[in-house]
Amino acid sequence: MPDPIGRLIRPEIRALKAYHVPAATGLVKLDAMENPYAWPAPMKAAWLEALRDAPLNRYPDPEARELKARLRQALAVPAGAEVLLGNGSDELIQMILLAVARPQAVVLAPTPTFVMYEMIATIAGLRFVGVPLAPDFTLDVPALLRAMAEHQPAVVFLAYPNNPTGNLFSDSAMETILREAPGLVVVDEAYHAFAGKSFLDRLDRFDNLLVMRTMSKQGLAGLRLGMLFGRPEWLSEFDKLRLPYNINVLTQVSAAFALDHLEELDRQATVIRTERQRVFSALSAMPGLKVWPSDANFILFRLPGAATPVHEQLLGARVLVKNLDGTLPGCLRVTIGTPEENDIFLGALKPALTA
Ligand SMILES: *Cc1c(COP(=O)(O)O)cnc(C)c1O
Repeated sequence: MPDPIGRLIRPEIRALKAYHVPAATGLVKLDAMENPYAWPAPMKAAWLEALRDAPLNRYPDPEARELKARLRQALAVPAGAEVLLGNGSDELIQMILLAVARPQAVVLAPTPTFVMYEMIATIAGLRFVGVPLAPDFTLDVPALLRAMAEHQPAVVFLAYPNNPTGNLFSDSAMETILREAPGLVVVDEAYHAFAGKSFLDRLDRFDNLLVMRTMSKQGLAGLRLGMLFGRPEWLSEFDKLRLPYNINVLTQVSAAFALDHLEELDRQATVIRTERQRVFSALSAMPGLKVWPSDANFILFRLPGAATPVHEQLLGARVLVKNLDGTLPGCLRVTIGTPEENDIFLGALKPALTA
C-alpha cells in the first residue's frame, strides 16, 4: 500500500516539528517565563476551600459568566468591549486564525517573536509572513508598511512586550501599524504584569484592535487561561469557533479566586521586577555580554561566542535557560526566578563564560 501517512496528512503538517518542551526535573527552571512563587499558605488554604464545592459532576458554565464579571472589574475592561476566554492564549490565537483561514490568507508579525503565531497559522492553513525587527529590536515601520501593502495580512500580531526580545514597541509605531493594517491587529499583552503599559483603553479608537492577555506569566501557567478583549462584533464571530466547555470548572473557580487576590499576584510581580533589575545589572557587569533591557519577566543576552556550549554548561550546573541560537545567534533567554534561583544562574554563568 502506498504511504498512507503521506497521502492523508497535509504536507505542511508533516514538515512541522511538534512544540518541544525540555525535561526540567531537578533543574532550576528558568526557560519558560513561569512565576517562581507559590501562594502564601493562608491563601492556598482559602483556595482549596473554594474548590471543595466545585461541581465536577456538572459541565462548566459555557459562558464563564462569573469569571468574566470578575475579570471585567479586576482589569477595568472598557464597558463597550467584549471578553472571550481561551484555554491559554494559544487557544485564542487558534480561534482567531481559524476564523480568517481562507485559502491564501496571510498572518504577519515582526520577527523574532512568539513562535505560536507562525505555528498555529501553519496548522490553520494560513501563510505566515515574518518582517525582521530593526537591529535594536524596534519595529521596522517602513518594512512593515511595505509588507502589509504587499501581503494584505488578515491578522497582524504584535507582542507587547515582545518575546524573546523583552521590549515594548513605541506608541507611535504601534499606532501606525493599527491605522495602516488592512485587517485585524492583535496586541498580545502576555507580560502586562511586568510592563504596566496597555492598549486596552484604545479599543474604542481602533476598530481593528484586539487585546490579548493571559494568567500564565502571573503565576497561573498551570491553569491555562487566556483572555481576549475587543469589539463585540468581532468576538461574537470568534465565539462560534470556541468548543463549548473550553474553560473547565477548576479553572473558572481558581481564576476567579486569584482575581479576588490580585494584590498578592501584584506583589509577586513587583518582586520579580526588582529582581529583573538586579539580574540585568549583574549580567551587564560580565565582560563580553550584550544584555537588552526588558519590560517582561525575562532577559535576553548575547554571549561573546556560541550559545550552545554555554547553554550546556549551565545545564551541567542544573540550570535550564532557553537557547535561542537558531533564531538569534549567540543568544540565551533567562526567566527571572527567585533571588536564590537567580544567584544560582549568575554563579553558574560566570565560569561558563571563561571556560
Ligand atoms: C508566554 C506567552 C503567551 C502565553 O500563552 P498561554 O497559552 O496563555 O500560556 C502568549 N503570548 C506571548 C507573547 C507569550 O510569550
